[in-house]
Amino acid sequence: MSGTCHLVDLFGRRISYLRLSVTDRCDLRCVYCMAEQMTFLPRKELLTIEELDRLASAFVARGVTRIRITGGEPLVRRGVIDLFASLSRHLSAGALKELTLTTNGTQLARHADDLARLGVRRVNVSLDTLDPERYRALTRRGTLGPVMEGLQAALDAGLKVKLNAVALKGSTEDEIDDLIAFAHGHGMDLTLIETMPLGDTGEDRTDRYLPLTELRRRIEARWSLTDTSERTGGPARYARVAETGGRIGFITPMTHTFCETCNRVRVGATGVLYTCLGQEERMDLRAPLRGSEADVALHAAIDAAIRAKPSGHDFHIDRGGRPALARHMSALGG
Ligand code: SAM
Ligand code: SF4
Repeated sequence: MSGTCHLVDLFGRRISYLRLSVTDRCDLRCVYCMAEQMTFLPRKELLTIEELDRLASAFVARGVTRIRITGGEPLVRRGVIDLFASLSRHLSAGALKELTLTTNGTQLARHADDLARLGVRRVNVSLDTLDPERYRALTRRGTLGPVMEGLQAALDAGLKVKLNAVALKGSTEDEIDDLIAFAHGHGMDLTLIETMPLGDTGEDRTDRYLPLTELRRRIEARWSLTDTSERTGGPARYARVAETGGRIGFITPMTHTFCETCNRVRVGATGVLYTCLGQEERMDLRAPLRGSEADVALHAAIDAAIRAKPSGHDFHIDRGGRPALARHMSALGG
């Protein structure tokens, strides 16, 4: 394979989107994502910033036009701004249409200006609650103040901000009106995500699982929603709120499948390529990356993985609370 043609899988899906995890570490321990005690990868297992750049650039050469940097928490990775700086050359060249990140926002106040300067236009910030005590409980250690400062810094830097909130029974239900008013009051979209059974978190997720159909009924009791056909290239379906003019996105991996139009692949921080969030198919890209300075073997490994991309995932929340996959969401970054 030449390494110059586009990536198209056996189901005719063209791969144009890469989610690249730069670390499995995080300064928080969200209850739906991680266990309280986590064993993280030894640092030497991780790709270096230079290797991450080379790997991402190989995907850009194959027609990937959007890259999202994620984690763990991407902004705790040392040198991550150098990675943005380096990848921004693809934005200037026009090969990359979008370079963005998903963050918990705790370090965003420090980095927002740099990110904006380097060509980042939008950021997703994960925030499930506006209540400081609940925030501490859900993240098992976090403080809400710095996140609020981070949001403000991002908006001040001219970044478009989308809030991501995981739908949780006993929490999102009674805060949803405040979250909508807060997000839309600051010109931010709000996307609601159903919890997915990934990785052992030390808790039974079935207790916390809140279907978005149920949450939407609650939202519609107060707000007037109109479904829109707008898509942002991801799995979210959007509805416009008449009272605020803002949008709410719904990501429903558990109740409805979006696999037919999947255009994405994920690479973990050690350089393993996953072609489906909900399946085990994987391909190590670190060995071909480190094995040769040329990218021939790397492209061959990418091609082999894309040929084996599964048609879709197979999530079920009701497996007695057990995770469908052993790996944590923080291994791949959503
Ligand atoms: N640390 C960053 C953050 O929190 O935004 C990036 C990585 S985090 C794993 C990416 C997204 O995955 C977050 O929006 C988080 O809420 C979501 N997430 C984590 N565990 C999840 C789960 N079990 N089900 C659904 N979403 C999950
Ligand atoms: Fe960290 Fe993000 Fe997982 Fe929360 S969701 S523990 S912030 S990686």
